Amino acid sequence: MKTADVIVIGGGIAGASAAAELAGDGARVLLLEMESQPGYHATGRSAAMYEPADGAPMVRALTRASRGFFVAPPQGFVEVPLLSPRGVLMLAYPGDEALIEEAKRNGYVAVDAAFAHQKLPLARLDGAIAILWDGEAQDIDVDALHAGRLRALRRAKGEIVTDAPIDRGRRVGGVWRLEAGDAAYEAPVIVLAAGAWSDQVAKSCGVAPVGLKPKRRSAAIIAGPAGIPVSDWPEILPIDISFYCKPMGGKLMLSPADEEPVEPHDTWADDLRLAEAAAGLERLVDMQVQRFERTWGGLRTFAPDGLPVVGFDPDAEGFFWLAGQGGYGIQTSPALSRLAAALISGRTLPADLAREAIFPEQLSPRRFR
Ligand SMILES: Cc1cc2nc3c(=O)[nH]c(=O)nc-3n(C[C@H](O)[C@H](O)[C@H](O)COP(=O)(O)OP(=O)(O)OC[C@H]3O[C@@H](n4cnc5c(N)ncnc54)[C@H](O)[C@@H]3O)c2cc1C
Repeated sequence: MKTADVIVIGGGIAGASAAAELAGDGARVLLLEMESQPGYHATGRSAAMYEPADGAPMVRALTRASRGFFVAPPQGFVEVPLLSPRGVLMLAYPGDEALIEEAKRNGYVAVDAAFAHQKLPLARLDGAIAILWDGEAQDIDVDALHAGRLRALRRAKGEIVTDAPIDRGRRVGGVWRLEAGDAAYEAPVIVLAAGAWSDQVAKSCGVAPVGLKPKRRSAAIIAGPAGIPVSDWPEILPIDISFYCKPMGGKLMLSPADEEPVEPHDTWADDLRLAEAAAGLERLVDMQVQRFERTWGGLRTFAPDGLPVVGFDPDAEGFFWLAGQGGYGIQTSPALSRLAAALISGRTLPADLAREAIFPEQLSPRRFR
């Protein structure tokens, strides 16, 4: 039987970040991951974007509060920059007037055709009534970020156990006893960071679910136009987000931005939706999509109000939720993990989170009870 001060269930970016923060605070932390490698699910399947102009006001505040970590991570955390310039070019069409105003309020600026063609010479702008630009949007090096968190956890004497699918849990004698097959683990506090599986794991611990909905999103890697380097292209999308496309590893990542509600599972791409996205891309960029070189699907998991669920369960002592990050779990992970560590350690809220008007009760699971 392994024991710890805190057990974190789930080794994606949420669990790895919270575990590293807690271990850095001096807690004995055990991270349990059901797969043979942490990062196998949503974290390893994202578009790897930092987009401060996207999402609900709370998401944007969490994203802003995360920027400091990305720009200046702790000494020795990584050898490479975590953010690199990307930019987002967004096109709007007749009928999109309300969306244009909203995008501008959130930080997009209107640009002209010359600017758009300088950023993306093959952009097709016919019919667009507005061209919008988010120059603050960056690529996140997710592999480096995630590996850095796991390394920081190990350096702070934390332990990572893979192939440990928690299937039962109960509170006995002031501690949580978790079981994965024959193996058992105990700690007074557990952090539920199991992504799409979080409600399921809560139920297996006798804790009421909060109503999380996993939604599938498909993606593919495609080649750029022959002979034309694409690495410096911005992300491009129509304002109704019926698809998006961005450079990835010298090629292009294309997604139909689908949101199919599903049960938690090891998901895959919807080829039909990818074909629609390819047709959409060909309308906005003067190129042809020949084939999908690689496809994948990932689960983005949403609470009923679309905001993350972070905090102690009001009805289950020592049971801490860190779930429901939707489509923003990478870019908000620095702020959410600091918030989680402060609440668990009983410290005051970090001042920069309070300055962004991020208060624990807004994210607490209490709002669903
Ligand atoms: C196509 C796509 C594009 C995206 N693009 C972006 C983006 O550009 N920017 C951004 O910020 N976010 C993006 N996201 C969202 C982001 O990927 C997620 O919000 C984030 O990865 C969630 O992290 P997590 O750690 O909560 O979940 P996960 O990475 O899914 O981790 C949960 C972990 O818990 C483990 N687990 C589950 N059940 C158990 C159990 N019973 N016992 C032990 N372990 C268990 C799982 O194996 C998994 O490793 C995107 C997502 C998708 C799918």
